[in-house]
Amino acid sequence: MIAGVASLRAMRVVVLGAGFGGLELASRLSEADAGIEVVLVDKSDGFVFGFSKLDVMFGRVGPDHVVHRFSDVVKPGVRMVQAEVTSIDPVAKRVVTTAEELDADILVVALGADLHPELTPGLVEDDRAHEFYTVAGAFALADVLAAFEGGRVVIGVTGTPFKCPPAPSEATLLAHELLETKGVLDRSSIELVMPLGVPIPPSPQASKTILDSFAEKGIVFHGGVLITGLDPERHVALLSDGGEIGYDLFLGVPVHRAPSVVVESGLTDDGWIPVDPLTLETRFPDVYAVGDVTSVGTPKAGVFAEGQAAVVADAILARARSEQPGSQYDGHGICYMEFGHEQIGMVDVFFQAGVTPHGDLIGPSTDLMAQKSHFGSSRIARWFGRDWVSTG
Ligand SMILES: Cc1cc2nc3c(=O)[nH]c(=O)nc-3n(C[C@H](O)[C@H](O)[C@H](O)COP(=O)(O)OP(=O)(O)OC[C@H]3O[C@@H](n4cnc5c(N)ncnc54)[C@H](O)[C@@H]3O)c2cc1C
Repeated sequence: MIAGVASLRAMRVVVLGAGFGGLELASRLSEADAGIEVVLVDKSDGFVFGFSKLDVMFGRVGPDHVVHRFSDVVKPGVRMVQAEVTSIDPVAKRVVTTAEELDADILVVALGADLHPELTPGLVEDDRAHEFYTVAGAFALADVLAAFEGGRVVIGVTGTPFKCPPAPSEATLLAHELLETKGVLDRSSIELVMPLGVPIPPSPQASKTILDSFAEKGIVFHGGVLITGLDPERHVALLSDGGEIGYDLFLGVPVHRAPSVVVESGLTDDGWIPVDPLTLETRFPDVYAVGDVTSVGTPKAGVFAEGQAAVVADAILARARSEQPGSQYDGHGICYMEFGHEQIGMVDVFFQAGVTPHGDLIGPSTDLMAQKSHFGSSRIARWFGRDWVSTG
């Protein structure tokens, strides 16, 4: 019983994963100063925004600028454990890590999605093929793109679901800007292959603006198609509709899976953790899950993980204060999208349970650059307690 435990000692909340969801949750619980003990566990050295991967690969900033070290997370009531989670028992709420074992009163799983380039035949083997979704992959691409002197570029998604559905379109438009800046557009072509029929399905307006931009730039869009593999001998992408596209440079979105430790815990159904879409509770009492690791029904993006973490924080604080939980998840998110040449679009979308997803596009315009920059800097100020500007 939490109430009994809480009367003897502080309630202990164990948060697995210090990404968008975990950092937001730990920050909110710390700021509330409700006497809750928070243990935040992550195996990485630090946090990197998804959009920073694009900034590094397209040469805007160096890798060191975009890694936010977990050693800088110093928050009252929060203990950071840098270790790998190797086992989760959602019934006992016991977690084994490579550093220590942890017993939780409330357990929150925010371990994100693991990325598996090796599950796409040819993607690892072909030296002309790269993926830009992992931190290592995006950072390595900075040199590859700097050295690229033009040719056939294919950007392709190799599995569903995948994080940040606008990101492949952003990479496509930024690749066009790069080739234009290098003066090699006349000997280049760019094609985007993605399983969604249009770039941003909940917003026809955003999709039309992106498709118009592609058409104006001569970019070929293959919607509703997946890359099933690459032929490393012929440097050809194999498509789910039976087609093939040759490339000199392939930039891939790898297959996503819930981390194996989550699958082995019994928390998942069909690969991801099912949760109540309004409260983010799993089927196990006092175990919540937020962000990319869930099948909550929103796209896999940081803004949604963050919004879900806020609802879980409210529920935990209500429990600690013996109050009724105040908020329910509304599926709202704002995402900034790069159109190239410092043009930023803002996509404002809702994914509420039982309601058709819908959204609007504001921009693109250069005026939104400042807003996008504030999105990043405000989070780093709250989560890491320091000043930061995304593009240096
Ligand atoms: C190119 C690109 C651009 C993007 N742009 C945007 C954008 O503009 N806006 C946006 O909202 N989203 C964007 N995203 C998506 C966003 O990065 C993710 O959706 C978001 O980080 C998910 O948050 P999360 O908390 O669920 O998981 P994550 O942020 O992925 O955090 C999970 C954490 O769990 C840790 N972990 C995993 N397994 C273990 C383990 N066994 N033991 C210990 N720790 C573990 C990981 O190290 C990681 O720190 C982008 C993604 C990409 C790839």
